[in-house]
Amino acid sequence: MNRLRQNIRDMAGYIPGFQPPDIASWIKLNTNENPYPPSPRVREAILAELGEDAALLRTYPSASSSLLREAAGRLYGFDPDWIIMANGSDEVLNNLIRACAGEGEEIGYVHPSYSYYATLAEIQGARVRTFGLTDDWRIAGFPGRYDGRLFFLTTPNSPLGGVFSLAYIEELAGRCAGLLVVDEAYADFAGENALELVKRCDNVVVTRTLSKSYALAGMRLGLAIARPAIIAALDKIRDHYNLDRLAQAACLAALEDQDYFRRRCDQVVATRERFSAALRALGFTVPSSGGNFIFATPPDRDGRRLYDDLYRSRILVRHFSDPLLAHGVRISIGTDEEMARTLAVIAGGKHDAT
Ligand code: PMP
Repeated sequence: MNRLRQNIRDMAGYIPGFQPPDIASWIKLNTNENPYPPSPRVREAILAELGEDAALLRTYPSASSSLLREAAGRLYGFDPDWIIMANGSDEVLNNLIRACAGEGEEIGYVHPSYSYYATLAEIQGARVRTFGLTDDWRIAGFPGRYDGRLFFLTTPNSPLGGVFSLAYIEELAGRCAGLLVVDEAYADFAGENALELVKRCDNVVVTRTLSKSYALAGMRLGLAIARPAIIAALDKIRDHYNLDRLAQAACLAALEDQDYFRRRCDQVVATRERFSAALRALGFTVPSSGGNFIFATPPDRDGRRLYDDLYRSRILVRHFSDPLLAHGVRISIGTDEEMARTLAVIAGGKHDAT
């Protein structure tokens, strides 16, 4: 007798972006991390929590992350019972599927977007339906009424960078019978977001992460904002101590240093715009991006060769073998110096159309 569930045996599992062990010797532009350190207050807060002898680590952290929910609530304009904190936004995406979709039930999402949704659905035994994109950032063939249990909308989209308009997201919410989960992992770099829809539409959930804009991928911090009834359901499912003490201390310090946060986001966005313009001047196709990354297609449309050229120079970007994406690469935005070195390798690489 095989003791493992059939769907777990059959699934391939999610393959995250490569984390080289000798990270310092690479220019690492493959997983949309922030090139700058987190606020200096994060380090202070972690050290304060550790104290002289790390004695506090004997004790469990706050189970409700109440200080963080209050801080996030103040920041985004919601009461704390509209917010749940998560061990990375991946955790809350997982719990949303667990809360909504039972075995054999359908969830939907846009392809291309975040491929982890498919893995989470597979674990749950849920069915998946994917929809393509139109050129003007709408969903191709989205039905007048979508009866799936939940729909994931990634905006800004990754890996392409496009942003769905607020009016369109609101229209989609009206067409979804189930939850519309607006995955705003990159919204802090976009200058617009769907938070107001959480108040207007009773089926909209917005998810955020501190991994990108707050430079805290290594601490695993995310959150969701939704109606209290949805938050209460998610609260029942999560691990009860889902955020450790150091993560909670770091999160509070990061959220409270908004000046630092805005300055760093502005810096990344300015670099993104300069880098995009420089690539376009080399003949690359670079759609405008609302994230901390761009999707670049060389004139010869050989994304794999571009990836290999950069890899040989110890610059790591992301190439997707999916036929919809194989012609380009996704490049996270690093420091100006890192992007200048990347540009120099690309410019020397002869990717002209033949
Ligand atoms: N959503 C999207 C669209 C992402 O790209 C990522 C990061 N890979 C996540 C969610 C998860 O982020 P984290 O778990 O680090 O908060």
